[in-house]
Amino acid sequence: MSKKVFLETVGCQMNVLDSELVAATLRKAGYQLVADPKQADVILFNTCSVRQHAEDKIYSALGQLRRHKQRHPHKIIGVLGCMAQKDQELIRQRAPHVDIICGPGQLGKLLYLLEEVERTRQPQLAVSLGRADAHRPEVERSFESYDPLREPELRTNRFQAYVRTQFGCDKFCTYCIVPSVRGPEQSRHPDEIVAEVRFLADQGCKEVTLVGQTVNSYHYRFGDGRMVRLSDLLYRLHDIPGIRRIKFITNFPRDMTDDLLQAVRDLPKVCRYLHVPAQSGCDIILRRMKRMYTVAFYRDMLARCRETIPGVAISSDFIVGFCGETEESFQRTCDLVAHAGFKNSYIFKYSPRPGTKAFELYPDDVPEEVKRRRNNDLLAIQAKVSLADHRRFIGETVEILVEGPSKWAYKLSNQTGHDARQPSDWLQLTGRTSTDHIVVFDGPKNLIGEFVQVFIEDASPYTLFGRLSSPVLADNGEKTKQGMLLEPITLLGSRGHENSAEQPNPAYEDRESSFSNGSRSLYQRRLSLPIVQDQA
Ligand code: SAM
Ligand code: SF4
Repeated sequence: MSKKVFLETVGCQMNVLDSELVAATLRKAGYQLVADPKQADVILFNTCSVRQHAEDKIYSALGQLRRHKQRHPHKIIGVLGCMAQKDQELIRQRAPHVDIICGPGQLGKLLYLLEEVERTRQPQLAVSLGRADAHRPEVERSFESYDPLREPELRTNRFQAYVRTQFGCDKFCTYCIVPSVRGPEQSRHPDEIVAEVRFLADQGCKEVTLVGQTVNSYHYRFGDGRMVRLSDLLYRLHDIPGIRRIKFITNFPRDMTDDLLQAVRDLPKVCRYLHVPAQSGCDIILRRMKRMYTVAFYRDMLARCRETIPGVAISSDFIVGFCGETEESFQRTCDLVAHAGFKNSYIFKYSPRPGTKAFELYPDDVPEEVKRRRNNDLLAIQAKVSLADHRRFIGETVEILVEGPSKWAYKLSNQTGHDARQPSDWLQLTGRTSTDHIVVFDGPKNLIGEFVQVFIEDASPYTLFGRLSSPVLADNGEKTKQGMLLEPITLLGSRGHENSAEQPNPAYEDRESSFSNGSRSLYQRRLSLPIVQDQA
């Protein structure tokens, strides 16, 4: 009988991707994915260390499993990812019932670690070298690449996929733990990335999102000195048949080069959407954060993006309450947000991270209630800007890739038991434009995974509301005009459900109160695999 594994993921898109790959490896080895940890023989947490909150969640989940493990000593509990690398043995001190601690650079060893625990009943630790433990090449090698073949069943949907371009980060922003836990920045060989995207396209994938901590710093240098930049990679990926959209996240402001902007402008499949975190609107704070740019530089960069790529949508990240942030510094951030025209911003309260320069050098001197107030104030400013940005679309027809039922449709189906079972059943759907704007409309289920035209009738700060204006597919696959052949089972009117509309998959659950817009977020989402229950 196959062993059952439960895998829970906290964190950014890197972790979502790592979990997909771990799940694929385990399935190949005969494991069955289950949704309930109590049913599982192996319980794994893929963890995040970017903020304290994310770690607290995991320690609390581990605490809840202590009694369960006492009653079922043969069950294996594992902590994977950034917390494993950061806390290492500390995890076993705080949660002695943990059997496996496996850093993000060691995920390729997970099967071996599981076998070792079964064979020896001894705890296993696999972590990479610390940045100061050895010379760079040795540290780099200790973060092993982990990109096994992709399985469409393990993604939220088969028509969208993340693709890794880099591991690690070399920027060392003073507040950030990522360079320590994910190691030195290493770009993947471009041929490997192209092959992976081809493979995904053959599986029916239409949209790929390239992911790297600073994706626009991507550069692969060959032995003969030739270099492949992100712009070069985009040209190569653009030629792959089947791929209709290419996105890339997250960008570092200083590495937003003209060749990259021109590639975005000139390649129709590359989405006109740039996520470029600013973090603060105050030069003093930016210097303390060691972001290596000034506000004036950032504003010029925004102007360059908009000049080169007409219609580009730009989003950002901000940290409020960083060490030494005065009311005046914060006001400068408010000014930037009020005038920069971001589509949306992800706003985080500063969380001191042991192991970072800021933790070592500066006291965490902004009280929690001040952080919370600044967080809310900045959210309110961004909401106004986002509303203006979204309202521009009213009266226009946009092309969207339909991602799935809206969060509202999920909620309604849970409450009423109504389930859109037939492909032609109508429900509230959600998708995104190529500028990453979320669109909600009513349509038949068989549009999921399709590109459709939607006429925009209304807007909230976070969502566009519209109606289908393109032909839709009938059950028999024939194209038909909306409402002619299909019997619409409209679950709801679109307007009035704006806050519930944005999350396309119930497996995602935002855990951070400081989200900019409640949309399916880049950060801090919690993904409980299986996305699909494995019946094997
Ligand atoms: N590499 C990306 C970049 O440079 O923008 C982002 C990676 S980081 C995991 C995601 C976001 O988390 C950052 O943009 C920052 O706003 C936030 N973040 C990182 N460290 C933080 C900390 N110690 N406290 C609060 N927010 C933090
Ligand atoms: Fe962290 Fe800065 Fe690297 Fe982004 S660029 S991962 S914020 S150190």
